[in-house]
Amino acid sequence: MKKWFILLTAVVLLTGCSAQTDSNSSSAAAGKHTKADDQTSIVTAARPAPVIANDSLTNLQLDNPAVPVYDHHTYDERRQAGLPTQLPPLTPYTAKKIVYLTFDDGPDDKNTAAVLDILQQNQITATFFLVGRYAKLYPKIVHRIYDEGHAIGNHSYDHDYQRLYKTPDSYLAEMRKTDAILYDILGVRPLITRAPGGTVGNFTKAYWNALKISGYTEYDWNVSSADAAPHHPVAQDFIDNVEAQIDKPAVRDSAIILMHCSSGHEETVKALPRIIQLLKERGYTFGVITPMTPQPW
Ligand SMILES: [Zn+2]
Repeated sequence: MKKWFILLTAVVLLTGCSAQTDSNSSSAAAGKHTKADDQTSIVTAARPAPVIANDSLTNLQLDNPAVPVYDHHTYDERRQAGLPTQLPPLTPYTAKKIVYLTFDDGPDDKNTAAVLDILQQNQITATFFLVGRYAKLYPKIVHRIYDEGHAIGNHSYDHDYQRLYKTPDSYLAEMRKTDAILYDILGVRPLITRAPGGTVGNFTKAYWNALKISGYTEYDWNVSSADAAPHHPVAQDFIDNVEAQIDKPAVRDSAIILMHCSSGHEETVKALPRIIQLLKERGYTFGVITPMTPQPW
C-alpha cells in the first residue's frame, strides 16, 4: 500500500498529472483534451489521498507538494482533549519549480464550479482559501474541492476587516468559526490560513503568534494576478500580470499565485486556461499548499 502510494505521488510530482482511471484518460494524459472532455467535465483521476494529522501531529513531515494536509480535530477539540495544538517544526518542500494556484473568497456555485471544471480538464490541483459564510451556503462545492484533491484553507468567516483586525483574539475567533463550518461539512479542518487582504499592514507579531499556537500556518502570495484590482481589469490583464512575475528569481522555484473564485470573478475564469497553459509551457509542476510549502517571502 505504501509503495503504491509513493509511486502514485511520484508520478503526480514528476508529470503534474495523476494516474488515469477512466476511458477519457488517453487524450487528457497526452495533454490534449477532446471536445467531449470539455462538455462533460468528467475526467476523473486517482489523486493521492490527503494526509490527516494524527493526534500527536507527528505524521505531517512530507516532501511531496501534491498531497493536501488536514487535521481531524478542531482547535477546540484538541484543547479539550489535552492534545497538542501547535505544529512541530516542519522542513519545507525541496522540489523546484512548483507553482501553487490559489483561489480566495469562495465558494460560490458558479465561478468556483467553473474553476474546478478547468482544473479537472487540465488534471491539476490547486488551493482554495474559503470564507466560512459561503462554505455554509455551498457545502456541495466544498465537498467537491476536497474530493477532487485540492487543498482547502481558512480565509475567515465573512471577510470583515474591522472585526478581524481588532485584536488577535477577534481574528482567531473568526478563523475558528470557519473551521467549525468546514469540519461539519468535511470532518476535517484546514491547517493553512490566508489573512483577508494579506498580512502586510494587518498583522502584528501577536497575530503571527496567535496563529502559531493554534496550529495554523499562514500563507500570503508572491505572484498576484491582480484580479481584484479596481477599474474592472479583464482576463488578458491577469494573464499579463502572471507572465510578468512568474519567472523572477525570487518566485521561480515556489510561486504562489493569488486569484479569486467568488461571485464577480468571471474574468478570472476566462483567464485561467491560458494561465495554466503558460505555466505548463514554462515547466512548472502544480502543488497544493500545506504547512510544508515554503513561505512566499
Ligand atoms: Zn479575500
